[in-house]
Amino acid sequence: MQLFQFRQKGLVQIGLQFGKRTGEFGINLTKTLLAFQRRELGREHPAIDRMDTLLEEYLELDDMAKEMVTFASRYGEEERLFLAEEPEILAPLQRPGKILCIGQNYAKHAAETGSKPPATPVYFGKVADCIIGPGETIMMPRRFGRVDPEIELAVVIGKPGFQVPRDQAMDMVAGYTILNDVTARDVQNKAKDQGMPWFASKNYASFCPMGPNITLKQYVHDPHDLEMTLSVNGEVRQQENTGQMVFDIPHLIETLSWQLPLRPGDVIATGTPHGIQALADGDLLEMRIDGLGCLKNAVREIQH
Ligand code: MG
Repeated sequence: MQLFQFRQKGLVQIGLQFGKRTGEFGINLTKTLLAFQRRELGREHPAIDRMDTLLEEYLELDDMAKEMVTFASRYGEEERLFLAEEPEILAPLQRPGKILCIGQNYAKHAAETGSKPPATPVYFGKVADCIIGPGETIMMPRRFGRVDPEIELAVVIGKPGFQVPRDQAMDMVAGYTILNDVTARDVQNKAKDQGMPWFASKNYASFCPMGPNITLKQYVHDPHDLEMTLSVNGEVRQQENTGQMVFDIPHLIETLSWQLPLRPGDVIATGTPHGIQALADGDLLEMRIDGLGCLKNAVREIQH
């Protein structure tokens, strides 16, 4: 089961992909929830058309998704719940409360930046204004100098929690997506040399491509055994298995939730593997992670 945000006829809504039914892309989940409430419960709530809201409303996403698939198989044609073809896919989260990113969480990546892996997780934030969806363009301001993509497995939080111990951490996870932690490397290195924060290097509009969907955790066999591949213009640049993470997902959730409450819709980007290289104007990026799909974005240099 995969949740996605899409736009059709100017309306932003939520979709659900499941199994393979020929000739259909999935169901319109926003419409399905409304039809379900009307037919089965005899009432109708306001439409849920944003993923953040859906995650807050439904803590048991897989149960809800299965119920909606069953409902759609009965009333789908009548209520026009099916999406006949692929709609315009947007980032799966438009306004997450926070995007927390882990630095140097792969030993070979730490080595290529001249560091050893840290003893405890290093983290920083990206803001929601940096998010773009599949097919949107990464803007690369000339004044930044070198800009790199970073493929990362991103964890989407589904349940709230504060100071969550490791053995309960995975209960907080709703699912997974692909995130590109675009980084202005020259700006970051200068900040590092001066002992200054990394914020500017990580937060420029369009520096957080995300998507194409949220794959529910029940359909990811092991988040610590997924192949990740970044290709630029068809040439592989980064390739690694998530099993090579220095600090695993429960460790990251335990660490981050000690400092801040985690809420449904929050995103944790788990770090990038080795192979970082600069982008150039006109590059086409394809990021793939096993079972999570492919996130494609083009790059455009801008003159300011
Ligand atoms: Mg990163």
